[in-house]
Amino acid sequence: MSSPATKQQPSIAIVGAGVSGICLAVNLKRAGIHDFVILEKSNEVGGTWNENTYPGAACDVPSHLYSLSFEPNPNWTRKYPRQGEILEYFRGVARKYDIYSHIRFGVELDEAAFDEASGQWKLRTSTGEETMVKVLASGCGQLNRPAMPAIPGLESFKGASFHSARWDHSFDLNGKRVAVVGNGPSAIQFIPEVAKVAGELTVYHRTPNYVVPRLDRPYTAFERWLFAKVPGAGRAYRWALYWTLEKNRIAFTRGTWFNKLFRQIADQHMTTQIADEKLRAILTPDYDLGCKRILISDDWLPALTRPNVEVIGAEIDHITENTVVNKDGTVREVDAIIFGTGFESTKFLTPMKVVGAGGKPLTQAWQGGAEAHLGVSVAGFPNFFMMYGPNTNLGHNSIIFMIECQVSYILGCINKIRNNRLSYLDVKPEAMERYNIGVQEAIRESVWAAGCRSWYKTEDGKVTNNWSGFTAEYWWRTREPDFADYRLVSGS
Ligand code: NAP
Repeated sequence: MSSPATKQQPSIAIVGAGVSGICLAVNLKRAGIHDFVILEKSNEVGGTWNENTYPGAACDVPSHLYSLSFEPNPNWTRKYPRQGEILEYFRGVARKYDIYSHIRFGVELDEAAFDEASGQWKLRTSTGEETMVKVLASGCGQLNRPAMPAIPGLESFKGASFHSARWDHSFDLNGKRVAVVGNGPSAIQFIPEVAKVAGELTVYHRTPNYVVPRLDRPYTAFERWLFAKVPGAGRAYRWALYWTLEKNRIAFTRGTWFNKLFRQIADQHMTTQIADEKLRAILTPDYDLGCKRILISDDWLPALTRPNVEVIGAEIDHITENTVVNKDGTVREVDAIIFGTGFESTKFLTPMKVVGAGGKPLTQAWQGGAEAHLGVSVAGFPNFFMMYGPNTNLGHNSIIFMIECQVSYILGCINKIRNNRLSYLDVKPEAMERYNIGVQEAIRESVWAAGCRSWYKTEDGKVTNNWSGFTAEYWWRTREPDFADYRLVSGS
């Protein structure tokens, strides 16, 4: 498997050409490292922004912060960027740095096994190719495998049915009777769009979520001129956005006044937007704010009050060839079912098979739930690095900030391997354990550990997805690798 750019055997393989993969690739090139290949299962860059094309798809993080620090874009059209604009931004970055020529599209990594003797990873792809690389980096993220609920009878349904991350654009929703399962961040973005065109829309709402105002708006021509022409204006604005969001981390510690303030804002938003008390009762949560992701929307609650929309606050019992039947006995005939049911977030790299030193599968190392040192390295899996790995997700700030921290840390490790001609480096189990004990202790104080079901935690209740603190702390801890935490093995 040669890197298309170099036509040589690559020394680094990156899995995924999403935000993380592109960010690492660009930074490798900026550091003068060109012998890498990116394996991408789809036919375009952008990852989540390439896959989630549902109507209304947008980001909850302001555009000037949801972008790479070294590639500011003064031309963002609005405060909260929409899917098409984000995808175009990342395509532009990939074009600018000639990343496309490094990508093998339509190729999945099926299996990676570490060979201690050579200090290399043996890769096997979906095309059956096998190759050896020195470094393996995952840019798969946490939200790339759609979760479909196991509802009895679903397979017998004769209408259209699809997941929000696999939107069927060929299905015309106009005038149709549509059921939506779920009310997470994805569903609340497409529900208002579906409600505008569907004949009848039934929303199956299992657990209520807190929702706060979004206050999205287009940037004025003057603001865009400022960002483009006044030196430092865009950067100053980005910093202001960063610190505005960063302080919100306080709200995710249980019992803080800031948490109570957010709750008041959410309660007020609900009262203002939903007049019907019965509907409000279905939509109002009773767990700690922030335990599940806080929703940010101005048009979701009003959409639920439209005459063609019904909200059912009970669990689905089963599905027949043309109906959805609830546990409370409600039966609704539908033409289509749309699943906004989220992702298999705690399984991280699956179904990829990753086998570390001594033939140990990653699934075995992660039996008690995924964990890593700084979310990046796993003991016993040398020269293997993750971006947006375990315990690096956020509820309050831009994930791109975290990804840039990880990329810089990984580059530090790659440079160490190359400059010191190491066979491999492997994080020490005790360093990884010490780090994770600290993370889990901090999480115990947080709202994520409160009683609720969320994609942040495993079935046993271990929070494997979220970073425990402020992003500034994560930056500090990842600003350069501490090689005392690693076993450095020299090459022969
Ligand atoms: P999600 O937050 O996991 O929500 C899934 C929804 O489906 C929940 O309401 C869940 O109910 C429901 N559900 C799952 N199985 C069900 C079943 N068997 N019966 C009834 N309901 C069921 O997934 P998501 O909305 O795709 O969002 C995932 C993450 O993607 C977000 O947290 C965010 O990080 C990212 N995202 C971001 C944006 C943005 O920036 N605006 C947009 C979309 C996604 P329960 O709560 O009862 O489990």
